[in-house]
Parts: sequence; C-alpha cells; structure tokens
Amino acid sequence: MTSPQQRNSFLCPDCQRLISRNTTTCPYCGLNNPGSFWKDNIFTRNNDGAGILKIILIANVVMFVLSLLIDPRGLVFRGSPFNFLSPTSPALQALGSTGSVPLFYNKAWWTLITANYLHGSLMHIVFNMIALHQLGPLLIKEYGTSRFISIYTLSGIGGFLISALFGVAFTIGASAAVCGLIGAALYYGKSRGGAYGNAVYSQLSGWAIGIFIFGFMVPGINNWGHGGGMAVGALCGLLLGYQERKKENMSHKFISMACIICTGLVLLYSTLRIAVYLLFGG
Ligand SMILES: [Zn+2]
Repeated sequence: MTSPQQRNSFLCPDCQRLISRNTTTCPYCGLNNPGSFWKDNIFTRNNDGAGILKIILIANVVMFVLSLLIDPRGLVFRGSPFNFLSPTSPALQALGSTGSVPLFYNKAWWTLITANYLHGSLMHIVFNMIALHQLGPLLIKEYGTSRFISIYTLSGIGGFLISALFGVAFTIGASAAVCGLIGAALYYGKSRGGAYGNAVYSQLSGWAIGIFIFGFMVPGINNWGHGGGMAVGALCGLLLGYQERKKENMSHKFISMACIICTGLVLLYSTLRIAVYLLFGG
C-alpha cells in the first residue's frame, strides 16, 4: 500500500531528495521541472546507477549469447576454462569486432561501438562485467549518470581507435570502456585531492597497475586498448568535469543522449545484418 503522500512525491533525479510531484523546481537543488521525462528516466537519473549498469550488462549478455548462437562451434568445450564458451572469430567479425583490419581495410567504423559489447569467452565477459559493477557506482556518484555514459562510450571508442592506430588487427571486449572508467576516476581523485580524492586515486592506481601486469603476462591482451581507454577516460573527466566542481548540465545530457542513440542504432544494425544474413544467406 502506498499512501497518497508517497504517490504524490518522488526522488529528485538530480539530488535524490524526496520532493512533491507537483513542484516545478526542486527546493533542495533548484532543478527545474524535476518530474519531466527528459530529466527523470533511467539514463539521466542520478541514483546508484543500478538501472544503467543493468542495461549495459544486458546488452553485453545478449551480444555474447548471439555470438555463440550464430556459429555453434563456439559452444564446443575446448579443454580449458579460459576458453569455455568462446564465440568463433567469424561470428565475432560478423557482429563487429574492431581493429586495424575492420577499420582501415573494410571501413567498418561502426565496429568501434559493437566491439565494446562482444567478448571472446565466458571468463572474458564475467571479468569485465564484474569490473564494470565494481567501478560503475563510484563513477556515477562523482560524475552523474549522463557523464558516466559518455565516459564509458567514448573511452571504448577512443581506446579501440588508438589500439587500431598502433596496429592491433582485431579486438573486442568491454575492457577499453572499463579502463576509461578507471582513467576518469584517477583524474577525479587527483583533481579533487584531500583524503577522499587521494584514497580514490590510490585505489584506482592499484586497479590500473593490476590490469597492466595482467596484460603483459597474458598473451593476446590489447594493452593499447586498455591504455588508450584510460587516457580517453581521463580526458573525458577533464573536459566534462565532475559533480563537485561542475553540476550536470544540458550539454552533458545532450552528449550522453548522442552516445545512447549511436550505441543503440549500431547494436541494432549489427544484429539486423546478422538476421538478414542467416535468413537470406550471404
Ligand atoms: Zn533536487
């Protein structure tokens, strides 16, 4: 049961305090029309970010399942837990793995987005999604949901573009985007300073060092993508600013909407062209 009072009030999408449905300006943070759909939806709401993190997780899982189903050879157990459930290269290329070959030979620029949602094995997707869910809430808290989405999307694109420029032929995975979150958190910690900023900075430095040690020990890891993603993430942090210094504004929301629309359209394009290929042959 909800009381009339609860029905007529909701959490301000910006400051997350309980306000009246009928209010035109949030009395706590001054946000105009806090109840409008444009301001209060899953992509813009500054909550703990569970909504947007869930959407990214679902997109990754759907693309992973699809990459296994369109070429069932990927379901065959190949004797090691590291490559358990590994989509085949043709399946990944069809759905849009990126790198110097797809980008510079095939001019398939859309793969800069799709590759962020494709993974090479069950282990690969599980590790990346755990990292995303460990880091996401911190980034959403300090940058707000809109800037989180932009940092994630642009770091994935930028990290993969940098790795392709350095000659990585084929690459996939959410880790360039996840490394972008690390870069943005490092920038935040360094820029904010103080006990909290320093704690964030040293914790995230640990993540970065761990990722590079892992990357140079295990063959086949795209270190250019990781380093590039971190650099782009830090640059996004610098250019977009964080909540404490610069409150979320309309241009932040506009950039994030552009990222969401591009990602949605590209993933749709990737899955539709596979559907057409499977139904009508190539
Ligand atoms: Zn408010």
